[in-house]
Amino acid sequence: MSPCGPYGCPIQRGHRVTQIYNRVALIGLGLIASSMCHAMRRAGLAGEIVGYARSAETRDVAREINLCDTIYDSAVEAVKDADLVVLCVPVGAMGAVAAEIGPALKQGATVSDVGSVKRTVIDAVAPHIPNGVHFIPAHPLAGTEHSGPRSGFAELFDNRFCIIVPVEGADRAAVDRVSDLWRGMGSNVDEMDPDHHDLVLAVTSHTPHLIAYTMVGVADDLSRVTDSEVIKYSAAGFRDFTRIAASDPTMWRDVFLNNKDATLEILGRFTEELFALQRAIRQGDGDHLFDYFTHTRAIRRSIVEAGQDTDAPDFGRSQIKSE
Ligand code: NAP
Repeated sequence: MSPCGPYGCPIQRGHRVTQIYNRVALIGLGLIASSMCHAMRRAGLAGEIVGYARSAETRDVAREINLCDTIYDSAVEAVKDADLVVLCVPVGAMGAVAAEIGPALKQGATVSDVGSVKRTVIDAVAPHIPNGVHFIPAHPLAGTEHSGPRSGFAELFDNRFCIIVPVEGADRAAVDRVSDLWRGMGSNVDEMDPDHHDLVLAVTSHTPHLIAYTMVGVADDLSRVTDSEVIKYSAAGFRDFTRIAASDPTMWRDVFLNNKDATLEILGRFTEELFALQRAIRQGDGDHLFDYFTHTRAIRRSIVEAGQDTDAPDFGRSQIKSE
């Protein structure tokens, strides 16, 4: 355990904590940034939260719902005097935003991000971080299919992992402080190097999203059934695919363009497995299918045991209905 820092002792997840940063600036005010606002406020982690979003419409909504203490009309104004700046824009926009705010960053400040891909974000952002400013990339493994400043909620990060991806030579105290912020927002925190992060996420998130997009697209191609029957008779499997496939198109376009190699690697393996299952079905090889499904069922059980999903039937939907 690291020693107590200038702002207190290391944070245990879920504990009510005191302020970690005086002034936090969020650039981009969508699902993740708005959830961070609510989660930071819940635990009193920031003295002041300020924000900026590119469109006047988003800034107006953020002001209307009182999302931050102050919403600025310029990113440069927002980051001045901030102790922590978090880039909450799509992965493909991180470099341009960093270039814009770089010269305005306060000495000793920390810049972090929440991008779903880490290697290309680090390559795009790091050159714009001035000497004397820390850059500590992060990725909260939590989300929904909703977007925008109204979609956030304080519990989004509770019991989810946030992966901190320190760049080479990163200041340990700055890494610990960002980690404590995420623990204070309810997350479990792990550290990874960027390439490993991108490979793990290609398996656990990026490729499954691509498969969901494809499956919904396939159903749509079968226009004979799409008009009414796919919607009317949608069973849990397809419904879950449609929920995932409703995720933000800009965000996911950028994820695939920026995690190209790892996603293609996992898609290659996926295709091989799919062919093997296809052959087993064609040849009536029930043993192969049974063994395969037994193995995958065990994986599902370990996810539930790790507290990363509910064991309730139909993912708890029946409970929601009866409430
Ligand atoms: P979101 O709800 O769609 O919000 C995105 C924000 O970025 C909006 O404020 C938008 O501005 C701004 N933006 C979009 N394009 C921009 C550009 N070219 N330049 C400057 N600003 C731009 O997105 P989100 O879900 O919060 O995702 C934000 C980041 O978190 C992404 O990097 C994503 O990979 C990562 N992430 C997402 C999830 C998830 O499940 N959603 C989970 C973990 C991490 P306007 O409103 O003005 O258009």
